[in-house]
Amino acid sequence: MTFDWNAHRFSGGVLALDLANTVIFRETPERSQDRFSDPAEVPRFAMAAANFRQGEWGDIQFRPPVSQPGIAALMKVREATNKLFRAAARGEGLRPRTLSAFLRLGSEIVCDEPDDQKLTLPQSSGKAGELSLTTAAFLSGVRLFEPSRLERIKICPNCHWLYFDGSRNRSRRWCDMRVCGNRAKARRHYDRNGRLAENSGV
Ligand SMILES: [Zn+2]
Repeated sequence: MTFDWNAHRFSGGVLALDLANTVIFRETPERSQDRFSDPAEVPRFAMAAANFRQGEWGDIQFRPPVSQPGIAALMKVREATNKLFRAAARGEGLRPRTLSAFLRLGSEIVCDEPDDQKLTLPQSSGKAGELSLTTAAFLSGVRLFEPSRLERIKICPNCHWLYFDGSRNRSRRWCDMRVCGNRAKARRHYDRNGRLAENSGV
């Protein structure tokens, strides 16, 4: 069965966080699931990301890794990104060793790009761009280092995804109100009714 990379899966708001969110329920290992456990999902994610991340990258095609080492590098960047920004979302800021690990990985990846690769996308010319998914995800993370952006990164209490809260007063509580917000509301309703039933001896 193929997996639907719909708008909800891109609730992270920026490519770096969307990539980190290809693992769900990260904070409860027994429930945790990796959407890339089937590597065939990587190119499908790359294609959907180009569509959902146009605001961040313009008209772009993300080249997914195809080789085994290429996929392994993407996974390493994904995990380093998650570690770095999850700590930041908890109010711990950027931690030296975690930041260094992220930058070292990124440095290797960027170094493998061809010399004429444009890294400052989207271009003002509006021309369609192309970039490897792994490099793009790393650069997307680098763009979050600005303190005013960093403090907008949050953790969804329902699915544990990381998301960028772009709302004016930083009031977003869920990665996606329609999915995680509604689930929490339904749970509260159930709890209340459960307690009511108990009290009335039903
Ligand atoms: Zn969520």
